Amino acid sequence: MSIEYGTKDGAVLWIRNPFTGNVTYFNNIHRKPHAYRHLTNPQESAPTAPPPPSTYDVRADMQRVQDACVFCPGNEAMTMEEVMRVAYGDMHPGVAPPDGSQAEDWAMRVVRNIVPRIPEACTGGRNESYVIIEDARHFLPGAADLTDLMWSGALSAVQYYHVLRTTADVVRHAMDNPAVKSVLIRKHQGRESGASQPHIHIQAIGADRIFPDVEQEMAVTARHPEVWQESVDLMRCFGFHLHESDGIVSHWSPFGKFGRHFELISLDDQQPLHDIPDHRLRLFAQHLHRLLRALHTAPHDLELHHGHGIPLHVHVNGRRYVYANFAGTLNAPADLATNYMPPTRHAMHEMTW
Ligand SMILES: [Zn+2]
Ligand SMILES: [Zn+2]
Repeated sequence: MSIEYGTKDGAVLWIRNPFTGNVTYFNNIHRKPHAYRHLTNPQESAPTAPPPPSTYDVRADMQRVQDACVFCPGNEAMTMEEVMRVAYGDMHPGVAPPDGSQAEDWAMRVVRNIVPRIPEACTGGRNESYVIIEDARHFLPGAADLTDLMWSGALSAVQYYHVLRTTADVVRHAMDNPAVKSVLIRKHQGRESGASQPHIHIQAIGADRIFPDVEQEMAVTARHPEVWQESVDLMRCFGFHLHESDGIVSHWSPFGKFGRHFELISLDDQQPLHDIPDHRLRLFAQHLHRLLRALHTAPHDLELHHGHGIPLHVHVNGRRYVYANFAGTLNAPADLATNYMPPTRHAMHEMTW
């Protein structure tokens, strides 16, 4: 197949999503003066809040939040049944764990989701929806505010590999149920993306069928196995390419749900997640971790698609300017680089932990 698109003077005018058939038109409205730049942003222009009264104790407030959080250590009884756990000492043997933790303390915990995302009646009477708590810490090290939450890119690269390793183990666990035909991995970062719990976590959802988006990708790939490489080549040609090494490519792509959509594609790994060789999973985790660090704390959702015959890949939908592709027209990402936000104080945590 050839991915259909139109260009003028080398710039893309429109492109047809090879999986859905939808056409997206590109606009160049970034050439217009950006009126909003002249308006004050209430958040940015608000006078700096007066320093809290000296009686305010942020540590006590943080403790109250952690005491009430179902995903925080000490509240294990508040979650559904535990399925797996990984201790700090399992990830970094011989390295001192984060402040306040012991090597034997859990760093990651897998529990069944209190609400099965797919009704149990569809999956052999078992709840096959899981929550993977990516780290025991609710707040960042050195947090000075209740909004200084732990986030995936702030974890160490080693720990992020263990997040994907554990996720793959959860997929295997769910697939042991003969009623489960596929497991979707998804994550929300930030309230704007629909996250109900601020404590860092990812979800694995076992279903009695292959999820429609993945099924569509499988069907098109079966007919046109070259579609992924072609898509990678096109994004490079249009200047949307970000990085490629180890056969793993990242780029901005117009084929996502929202205007700020990034993909990470491992072209040669075409098995379900739990069958990906460990050294390849490690590389994929490194690339994904790098992308998440670049997106920083911006709200986004992430969906990992995997299965027989399609490349292991991730869609990351940035929740900024979510309506930019309204009615199939999209602002050409001339400002792609702005998605790669400069590191702020929290990115300084090139943490061992
Ligand atoms: Zn918590
Ligand atoms: Zn996909």
